[in-house]
Amino acid sequence: MNKQSNSHGKHLIGGQWVGGTSTFMSDPARGVARAYSVGTPEHVDQACKAAEDAFWTYGYSTRAERTRFLHTIADEIEQRADVITEVGSAETGLPEARLQGERGRTVNQLRLFGDYIQQEGYLDLKHDHPLPDRKPLPRADLRIMQQPVGPVAVFGSSNFPLAFSTAGGDTAAALAAGCPVIVKGHPSHPGTGEIVAEAIHAAIHKCGVHSGVFSFIHSEQHDVGEALVEHPLVCAVGFTGSLVGGRALFNRCAARPVPIPFYGELGSINPIFLLPTAIDRRGVDIAKAWAGSLTLGVGQFCTNPGVAIVPQGAAGDTFTEATMKALSEIGPQTMLNKGIVAAFCRGRDRVAGVAGVSEVLASACEERSATPHLYEATGDVWLENRSLGEEVFGPLGLVVRSSGPEQSIEIARSLEGQLTATLHMEEEDSELASRLMPILRRKTGRLLANGFPTGVEVTEAMIHGGPYPASTNFGATSVGTLSIRRFLRPVCYQNIPEAILPEDLR
Ligand code: NAP
Repeated sequence: MNKQSNSHGKHLIGGQWVGGTSTFMSDPARGVARAYSVGTPEHVDQACKAAEDAFWTYGYSTRAERTRFLHTIADEIEQRADVITEVGSAETGLPEARLQGERGRTVNQLRLFGDYIQQEGYLDLKHDHPLPDRKPLPRADLRIMQQPVGPVAVFGSSNFPLAFSTAGGDTAAALAAGCPVIVKGHPSHPGTGEIVAEAIHAAIHKCGVHSGVFSFIHSEQHDVGEALVEHPLVCAVGFTGSLVGGRALFNRCAARPVPIPFYGELGSINPIFLLPTAIDRRGVDIAKAWAGSLTLGVGQFCTNPGVAIVPQGAAGDTFTEATMKALSEIGPQTMLNKGIVAAFCRGRDRVAGVAGVSEVLASACEERSATPHLYEATGDVWLENRSLGEEVFGPLGLVVRSSGPEQSIEIARSLEGQLTATLHMEEEDSELASRLMPILRRKTGRLLANGFPTGVEVTEAMIHGGPYPASTNFGATSVGTLSIRRFLRPVCYQNIPEAILPEDLR
């Protein structure tokens, strides 16, 4: 039997699989469309109440208990490895190898958080001892530690069906912190989401955790997401997705009677600057590597380096030519859903419609697939048209030809907030690079030299975030252990007797 046919299309709410009165059909890249229950604001209410109930135990659980839970979720996902790959690949059109890699990243992330909370460092434990003899007033005993915020809502994105979805980075970080999670399933991969929810459900049973600690609601309509961020019991939101969607939900969080933090990881154009000596020496190699990075996952990465700032002159001409050649060898590739293809076509038309932008590689996008596009513009055209700085989600590159170092600096200054920015440089380029660095530091979450930003390590030193519109909260990251901070808040205990202090503070 096709493993996908096991799908039941129900929501997981407070430990129960719940159907609905109406269904929506999935739209897989391959295979049979299936029916999934349509979530409602009532489902959201039930899930939030279950999460609040769970918080009274889970929010006060020991770190060892949560470590065991996170490791068990990882094990349960691995036990479903084949079916996750099969269903995930069919739903998204992503190759099986990509799904396998992403699953590895997802379980590693869960285990990393499980291990990370074993060390006390993330709790920021501090103790100011009392000064009873201090004049004119004595100082009290003061202790501080980070505490979980409460139930967290999580929205995954279409392009990472595992690592930024049901049991992805936001869920792992929130559960590690001690926060119950309610996931709004992404309609692009409902079957994949459901299997991962089953894995978490199994881990809940194995570890004896409160069943309200995790809920999963299918939906293809905005009302579920809106009800979720507005629910009074939700204390924070982790979102990975588009600028438009993220901004709409951010605004709702801010407009609540009790506003809550909305951690939106949004889009970015991830500029790469090719400095003169680097392009002279390695222009063709960088062009080939750029073409590869630009089309990885059909360009459907938030870290896709969509814009290259390249000096005018022969080396720049060779770079554009080499990029065009490398891109033209890539045929049509399946994109994640029809909506993304339609948005990609609109983005291409927006870029192509700017006066002064020339088409280097004409290409096609239709129904569910696209081939790469390449455009070129002068630095003056870039500086006059801010719309060129907006993300086009897909395999589209824009080469901006800078008239010289001063214009490259001006282009850097014109950038909006970015997840990443990259310098391709040689030692001889250090002077210009050191002038660009202070500007790029203000614009980005991650700065790279001589590499490509696609591929984000999950480590302690990673930042995946940046000034708006890359994210809605530049103090945060959605990847790496620091991402747990989003779901914690510091509490100060003044003169509290040791016996009733949280265990970690005693
Ligand atoms: P999306 O269309 O914004 O969807 C993400 C989630 O938000 C979905 O569950 C969607 O649900 C919900 N949503 C969107 N607009 C909403 C609204 N107005 N009200 C309520 N809910 C809303 O994004 P996507 O197409 O999945 O992902 C692609 C985008 O994600 C790209 O722009 C990419 O750059 C970005 N991304 C960013 C990162 C990062 O870490 N920064 C990582 C990956 C992807 P419904 O539409 O079903 O309601």
